[in-house]
Amino acid sequence: MMKPVLYIVIPCYNEEEVLPITEKIFLDKIEALIKKGVISDKSRVQFVNDGSKDKTWEIIRSLSEKNEHFTGISLSRNRGHQNAVLAGLMEAKDKCDITISIDCDGQDDVNAMDQMIDEYLNGAEVVYGVRSSRETDTFFKRTTAQGFYKLLKMMGVEVVYNSADYRLISSRVLQEFAKFKEVNLFLRGMVPLVGFKSTCVYYERHERLAGKSHYPIRKMLELAFDGITSLSVKPIRMITSVGFIIALISFIGVIWTVITAITGNSVPGWASTTSIICFLSGIQLIALGVLGEYIGKIYMETKRRPRYIISERTEVEND
Ligand code: UDP
Ligand code: MG
Repeated sequence: MMKPVLYIVIPCYNEEEVLPITEKIFLDKIEALIKKGVISDKSRVQFVNDGSKDKTWEIIRSLSEKNEHFTGISLSRNRGHQNAVLAGLMEAKDKCDITISIDCDGQDDVNAMDQMIDEYLNGAEVVYGVRSSRETDTFFKRTTAQGFYKLLKMMGVEVVYNSADYRLISSRVLQEFAKFKEVNLFLRGMVPLVGFKSTCVYYERHERLAGKSHYPIRKMLELAFDGITSLSVKPIRMITSVGFIIALISFIGVIWTVITAITGNSVPGWASTTSIICFLSGIQLIALGVLGEYIGKIYMETKRRPRYIISERTEVEND
């Protein structure tokens, strides 16, 4: 059997501090895998520069000059982690048999790759990297992240619990994935939709080796919200359910009102009227907001804008 060509896809945004450290870890890994005989010598570490404002692209370029196993593409501007990973996967899909996407900060243990490739050789087309523990995360990050997975599940979005964007995907799956044209990306919820045989590999998540996180709480909430609204219409159904419940309560309220009026006990009733108006306007605004969120998503989708634009490559195309 031919040895599979592996592309390790690594998104990088303003990572000049950590790249010179982790670069060696990735190179050692790919060389070890080649030496072990499980992957082809044509395998590559492929960086995706996500419109960095620092020296990241210069570093990637000089790495590619230094060693043939390094390659890279550069996006024309910052498009965010999900788009950067997608760009890397789409770039790699026709050049390799398997891709493994991983962050460039050394948080995900590269040693899980051996097992991922084993699982691929045993027939899995998608292998999810799952965090075995979150001890190195802060208490805050841990609880919010776990709440996030529970919320996604409640909303009917299928994700592998505690898996992020460290995973192996075969090029066969990527060919199918390329047909998913949506601009609202939430990769970890979309990959399960493609199907094919999948499995999980467990690994320890470390602390960032240098530099700092690009995911402040605001971006995390945005990702959570996008994940739910781009993969599920449950929030709209929930509005309908709330509407039904309120309609039922209102019906009882109408009977009560009529009876009170008939028996001649009707008093001015300012308090009850005001509370009902306040309550219902609140509910209505929330409902409008949820609907608006979906309309906004539809608006963005109908534009069919490119999800990323590649401005430079370290390798000149030879065909
Ligand atoms: N990243 C990116 N574009 C962005 C933000 C982040 O490509 O706009 C990359 C970043 O360089 C890193 C990965 O996405 O390789 C994860 O980011 P980070 O480590 O900052 O997030 P955290 O691990 O704290 O969730
Ligand atoms: Mg990180």
